[in-house]
Amino acid sequence: KPLIQLQHVYYQYEQTEALKDISLKIEEGDFLAIIGPNGSGKSTLLKIILGLLKPTKGKVLLFSKPVPLFKEKELIGYVSQKSNAFNTGFPATVEEVVKSGLVKKVGLFHPYPKNVDTKVSEALTSVGMEKFSKKNIGELSGGQQQRVFIARALVSNPKVLILDEPTVGVDSKNVRSFYHMLSHLNREHQITIVLVTHDVDAVSKTISHVACLNQSIHFHGFQNEMDSMSDE
Ligand code: ADP
Ligand code: ADP
Repeated sequence: KPLIQLQHVYYQYEQTEALKDISLKIEEGDFLAIIGPNGSGKSTLLKIILGLLKPTKGKVLLFSKPVPLFKEKELIGYVSQKSNAFNTGFPATVEEVVKSGLVKKVGLFHPYPKNVDTKVSEALTSVGMEKFSKKNIGELSGGQQQRVFIARALVSNPKVLILDEPTVGVDSKNVRSFYHMLSHLNREHQITIVLVTHDVDAVSKTISHVACLNQSIHFHGFQNEMDSMSDE
């Protein structure tokens, strides 16, 4: 059963048809990149998957259920493009940031689970940041911060990780190792990954599937049927 399925999805803002007849299937274990130029509808597509926008036409199924019936949002971990803004002028240690990812699950006024420290350290280990747990998030590089935000999304054990332009704040010399880390999460931790990027080159080594949104053609295809960029 596909984890996420879009069937003939359209999305119309007042003036703009942002998505036109998009169909795609995301299976467990996929590492999918959604690529396309600015304005091609990538963010809109993510918002549809996250249930933040309702398609004008078409269907979205999460774990084979229609989105409105879908109550287990924590199965999806999301790292927005604006995550970095979270830390500006916000003094917090890396482990505090990661721990805050559990609030969504336990609720603001509930105690954290007993094993919270283990969960936090496992999440940090999975992104290669375990040595930085006591550091202030503000002391880290853009790429390291991004890894911490991914750990924050992972701490509640989602099945799918959704990333909007994750390498925007990552120093170009670290982009490769960043994708390597994502690939590790995908393979060793069985996290299905969906990311949006306009960086075609960077993804070509690690990604298993590519969906391309294009301003003129709108939807170019989805890998299961299209060109595969498989790993070495
Ligand atoms: P991308 O993420 O690929 O840059 P978007 O999904 O942000 O593309 O935008 C797709 C199209 O929809 C663009 O033409 C954009 O200007 C338009 N759009 C996006 N968000 C809105 C909005 N809230 N209101 C009106 N138009 C929007
Ligand atoms: P992204 O590259 O992630 O789409 P943008 O800077 O294009 O980010 O858009 C930031 C926000 O503004 C998004 O939430 C998007 O939906 C909204 N937006 C984009 N284009 C328009 C538009 N033409 N009219 C209104 N809102 C828009």
